[in-house]
Amino acid sequence: MKPKKSLGQNFLRDTDVLEKIIQSANLKSDDLVIEIGPGEGVLTEKLFKHAGKVLAIELDSALANKLKKQYKDSKKIEIINADILNINLPEILKVETRHCLVSTEEKINYKVVANIPYYITSPIIQLFLETKFPPTEMILMVQKEVAERICARVGQMSILAVSVQYYAKPELLFYVNKKSFFPVPEVDSAVIKISKINNQQIINNKEEVKHFFRIVKAGFSAKRKTLVNNLSASLKLDKKEVEEKLKKIGITPNQRAQELSVEDWKKIAMLIYE
Ligand code: SAH
Repeated sequence: MKPKKSLGQNFLRDTDVLEKIIQSANLKSDDLVIEIGPGEGVLTEKLFKHAGKVLAIELDSALANKLKKQYKDSKKIEIINADILNINLPEILKVETRHCLVSTEEKINYKVVANIPYYITSPIIQLFLETKFPPTEMILMVQKEVAERICARVGQMSILAVSVQYYAKPELLFYVNKKSFFPVPEVDSAVIKISKINNQQIINNKEEVKHFFRIVKAGFSAKRKTLVNNLSASLKLDKKEVEEKLKKIGITPNQRAQELSVEDWKKIAMLIYE
C-alpha cells in the first residue's frame, strides 16, 4: 500500500522513539487511551500492551480494516474507521465507560496518545481541549515548529500558544528526527505533553470564552503593529481609551501581543468587557 501524502501518512519506524512515547504516557493497566491515526499500528501495538482499553480512530479504511482484522479477537481494542474531526467524542466515550468505574457524570478519565496527522494538528488539539469530556493528558507527536509554538513562553506567544495555554499546560518532551519516519517527511518532529486540562469555563460561561478569544485575535491581528493599535483598529475602539485601560494593568502602549501571558490577556478581556 502506498502511503497517502494527503492524509499525512508518515509512519514511525524508530523503536527507540516509540519506547520514549510509551514511557512518557506512563500508562496503567486500567487506562483508557484514544489514539488518533494509528496507521500501520506500531504505536497501537504498544498501547494495546500497556493500557486497559484502546480506541483507535483511523480515517483510511484500508488501514483501519487491516487493524480490525489484526485485533478481531480482542475486546481490549476498538478500531473506528472515521474522521477524528467528525466523531461524536462524548458519545464514544460514554459507550466505552458505561460498564466500568472510570467515569462519573462530570468526568471521564482517559488519555490521548498519538502520532497524529500534522495537517489537522490545531483542530485535533482544539477538539480535545474544548470537549465536554477532556482527557487527563495528551501525549502527541507534532511538527517540531508547531511544538515550539504551542509551548512558547512570554516574548514568543502566538494565538496558538494562548489557545492551548488558556486551557492547559503544554510541555515539549523531546525532539524526533524526520529520519525516524517512512516516508521521510520534510519536517522534524517533537513529542509534547498537554496536561492539567481545565475547560470548566466553556461549560460555565461560553460567552466569556468567546469574548476572550475575540480579544486575543484582535491583539494579534497585525504582526508588526503594537497591541494598542491592533486592539483599537480591530475592535473599533478609541485608541486613547485602550491605552488608558492597558496602563491600569501595567501594560505599556508599545508592547506587542507576543509579549503577553494568558493572565495578561484575561485582564485585558475583562477591561474591554466593561
Ligand atoms: N500513528 C501512525 C501513523 C501516523 S501518520 C504511526 O505513528 O506510524 C497519520 C495517520 O493519521 C495516518 O494513518 C492517516 O491515515 C491518519 N489520518 C489522517 N487524517 C485523519 C483523520 N482526519 N482522522 C483520523 N485519522 C486520520
